[in-house]
Amino acid sequence: MSCDKPLVDAFQRRISYLRLSVTDRCDLRCSYCMPERMTFLPKKEVLSLEELHKLGLAFIERGITKIRLTGGEPLVRRDVIELVHALGRKLGNGLEELTLTTNGTRLAEFAGDLHAAGVRRVNVSLDTMDGELFQTLSRRDRLVEVLRGIAEAKRAGLHVKINTVALKGINESEIPFLVEWAGTHGHDMTLIEVMPLGEVDGERVDHYLPLPAVRDTLEERFTLTDIGDNTGGPARYVRVEETGGRLGFITPLTNNFCATCNRIRVTATGQLYGCLGGAEKVDLRGALRSEAPDANLATALDEAMRIKPEKHHFRIEEGAEPAQPRHMSMTGG
Ligand code: SAM
Ligand code: SF4
Repeated sequence: MSCDKPLVDAFQRRISYLRLSVTDRCDLRCSYCMPERMTFLPKKEVLSLEELHKLGLAFIERGITKIRLTGGEPLVRRDVIELVHALGRKLGNGLEELTLTTNGTRLAEFAGDLHAAGVRRVNVSLDTMDGELFQTLSRRDRLVEVLRGIAEAKRAGLHVKINTVALKGINESEIPFLVEWAGTHGHDMTLIEVMPLGEVDGERVDHYLPLPAVRDTLEERFTLTDIGDNTGGPARYVRVEETGGRLGFITPLTNNFCATCNRIRVTATGQLYGCLGGAEKVDLRGALRSEAPDANLATALDEAMRIKPEKHHFRIEEGAEPAQPRHMSMTGG
């Protein structure tokens, strides 16, 4: 489907990828993501499923070809599967890919429905396969459900990519095992540097692990061959020759990848952010709930293209304020 008015930002980047947060709520409390006593948004501030659907359609009209549903935990939102089915109907008709990022706790229940709605790939976050460490890190005892979710997703025909945040002194020594496990089970995997987003209990800098160092350690055990990046995303990929698996490195701190950024993010309250690390935003909820939603949404999307920043400026150091007060669970990972 051709698009009359594609989204192109002030730096001539064509925006084709939307990360849409469907809730800020979550059934885990990963310590690098949010504090134990997280304050969630009042439900009335969150967009309805109909509004999220309308937004999705408006973005597809403007040339968005890939939508990733995220959160918070997208699968804890009641009836979210209806939204997945509704957006899935646009697959092959403007939309090329519909996918989601999940912590996996409820994936076993939804894997079949997701596949039936046209989802073919999901990202599942998994930082450890040690039950005790999982409980410490996520403050909940849910590893068994997550592993069952991954297995069910595979059985349902979904391609699973594992997302792992690399944490110094926490899961650092387990990373080679996770890489091997993912590769031998047919899952791609991406390692992520921890980003300074929102206040958490404790200092993130204590656990910041630069991925170039992780790669050096992995190379003592595996043969990593660079492969071209054709996803347009921030990850740089290698092939792990011993397992045949694909491994990505997302390095927001050690290496800036903004020049090729093709994405925008919308929170569950309809705030569009041009960048995970920036404060620039446009209020889509106001446009959606106005007297002339179509015209106002179109204007808001044009404005979003004007304000999308050139790059983020993440720094992680002792005592520093977070780069943004928003938690990752708010903007959507
Ligand atoms: N709840 C879902 C999940 O965990 O997959 C989706 C939302 S979560 C915010 C998306 C991704 O962001 C997860 O892979 C999580 O590990 C990652 N994440 C959360 N906080 C982060 C931070 N401060 N730095 C880097 N990654 C973070
Ligand atoms: Fe929840 Fe995902 Fe944040 Fe963990 S990373 S607390 S699963 S939103």
